[in-house]
Amino acid sequence: MLPERPSGMLKDFGIEVKEEDLKYEEEWDRRWKYISEAVDRVGTVQLRMFDRWGNRIDELLYPPEYWEMLYAGYRAGVVGRAFKEGSLKPFYVLGYITSFYDPGVYCPYTVSISTALPLYKYGSEELKEKYLPNLIATEGEIWQGATWMTEARGGSDLGNTVETVAAPIGDGLYILNGEKYFASNVGAEVAVVAARIKGKPKGVRSLALFLLPKYRRDGSLNYLVRRIKPKIGTRSVPTGEVELRDSEAYLLGREEWGIYLILEALNVSRVANSVGSVALAHRAWVEALTFARKRWAFGKYISEHPLLRRQFEDMRREVREAFALAWEAVEALDGVYLEKPRYSQAYHTFRLIAHMAKYWTAEVSVSAAKWAMEVHGGMGVLEEYPVERLLREAMILPIWEGTAHRQVLDGIEAIVKKDAHIGLYERFKDYAGAEEIRRIGEEIKGMDEYVRERDADLLFTGLIDATLKVLRQRYSLT
Ligand SMILES: Cc1cc2nc3c(=O)[nH]c(=O)nc-3n(C[C@H](O)[C@H](O)[C@H](O)COP(=O)(O)OP(=O)(O)OC[C@H]3O[C@@H](n4cnc5c(N)ncnc54)[C@H](O)[C@@H]3O)c2cc1C
Repeated sequence: MLPERPSGMLKDFGIEVKEEDLKYEEEWDRRWKYISEAVDRVGTVQLRMFDRWGNRIDELLYPPEYWEMLYAGYRAGVVGRAFKEGSLKPFYVLGYITSFYDPGVYCPYTVSISTALPLYKYGSEELKEKYLPNLIATEGEIWQGATWMTEARGGSDLGNTVETVAAPIGDGLYILNGEKYFASNVGAEVAVVAARIKGKPKGVRSLALFLLPKYRRDGSLNYLVRRIKPKIGTRSVPTGEVELRDSEAYLLGREEWGIYLILEALNVSRVANSVGSVALAHRAWVEALTFARKRWAFGKYISEHPLLRRQFEDMRREVREAFALAWEAVEALDGVYLEKPRYSQAYHTFRLIAHMAKYWTAEVSVSAAKWAMEVHGGMGVLEEYPVERLLREAMILPIWEGTAHRQVLDGIEAIVKKDAHIGLYERFKDYAGAEEIRRIGEEIKGMDEYVRERDADLLFTGLIDATLKVLRQRYSLT
C-alpha cells in the first residue's frame, strides 16, 4: 500500500516531517484542496490591465481564497526555511505535500526560491538588503519571484532564441528590451531574467542573468503583462507573456557567468519538478485505489480482480522507485547548491542525477495519471471527478523546466564531458549492480557521436534502470 497522505510517503523514506509540515498538510486536506479544485475548474485567471482612470496596472484577478492558499505555503516556510535552516530539504518536503494536492501551486514556490537563491549567492550587498528579506519572509509582507528565460522562438536552444537585449548604464544597472513568451508567476515582485548583453553575438556565452523588480525606481511598472495564457493544467499559477520596455534590471554575478546561473536556477526547479511529479503519481494511485475499492464488477470490487491487483502492485513499486530517485536528486543538490563556477565533480554528478530524476519521474507521473484514469473507466474522463485533472496537470511536467529530450541529451553530455557517471558509480559502489552504472557510462562515452545522440533516450533509460536497481537495495524497496 501507498500511504493516503503525502507525509506518509516522506516518513516511509525516513525523511523528517515536522509538526509544522503536518499542519500545512492538514490545511490542504481540510480546505485548500477545494479552493484548488475551484481554481482549476474556473480556468484561466483574468488580467485587469488598466484601472478605471486608464493607468496600466496589470492586476491578476484570482478569488481571494486563491491568495490565502498560495500564501499559506510561504507562511509555512516553503521558501524561507531553506535560508533559515541552511538546507533545501524543507522546500522539497513542503513541495511534495503541495504537489500531492496541486502541482501548479508548487510552481510559484519553485520560481520564488529560484529567484532568491541567485540573489543570495550572486547579488551585491545592496541588492540583497533591498530584495532578499521579503523574498524569504514567512510573515508580514511576502514577495514572490519568477524565472523568465523562454522567448517565442523556443526554450530549449536559449543561446539562439533569446532576443531580449541588456544594455549597461553603470553601477550594475542595465536596461532590458524584449519579450518573454512563457512567464510563469507573472505579477511577481521580482524576477530573474535571461538577456543577451548588447553587442554580443548569438550563443549561450552571451547570455547573462538579471534581477528585475516589478517596479522601476520611479514607481512605474517595470514589466508589462501582455496576456495570460490559457493552459490545460497548472492553472493555479498564472503564466503570461511579458514585455520588457526599457526595464531596469541588475546584473547577477558576472556577465560571462550567465549560462551557469540560468542552469543553476533550472537545476533547483528540475528537482522540484521531480518531487512534484512523484507526488502527482502518488495521488493518482490513491485516487485509483479509492475508486477501485468501491466499484463493483463481475461479482467483486474491481480492486480484487487479479489483473488490477497486480497493476496496483506494479504501480506502487514504480512510484516508490521514482520517489527514491527524486529524493536522491534532493540529497545530491543539498550538498552542492551553494557552489559557484567552476563546479566540483560532485556538482556534475548531481546534474546527472537531476536529469535522470526530471526525465524519469515525469514519465512515471504521466503513466500513473493515465492508468488512474483507465481504472476509473468512463468516470475517469469526466471533468467533474478528480482524475482527469491529474492527467492534464501531469502532461505539463515532462515539458516545462526543459523537455524530456533535453534531460536525456544534457544528462549524456554530463557523462561525455564531465565523467558524471563515475561520480554516480562512486556514490553507489557498495551496492550490487553499481558496476553496471560505470559500464553503461563508459559505453556511452565510447560511442559514435551520431548513434549516441540518435539513441540517447534508450541509453539514458538503461542508465536509469541500473540506478533504480541500486536504489531498490538502498531503500529496501519491494
Ligand atoms: C505551462 C508552462 C509554463 C512555463 N513557464 C515558464 C517560465 O516561467 N519561464 C520560462 O523561462 N519558461 C517557461 N516555460 C517554457 C518551457 O521551459 C519550454 O516550453 C521548454 O523549455 C521547451 O521549449 P519550447 O516549448 O520552446 O520547445 P522547443 O525548444 O521549441 O522544442 C520543441 C521540441 O523540439 C525538441 N528538441 C529541441 N531540441 C532538440 C534536440 N537537440 N534534439 C531532439 N529534440 C529537440 C524539444 O524537446 C521539444 O520536443 C513554460 C512552459 C509551460 C508549458
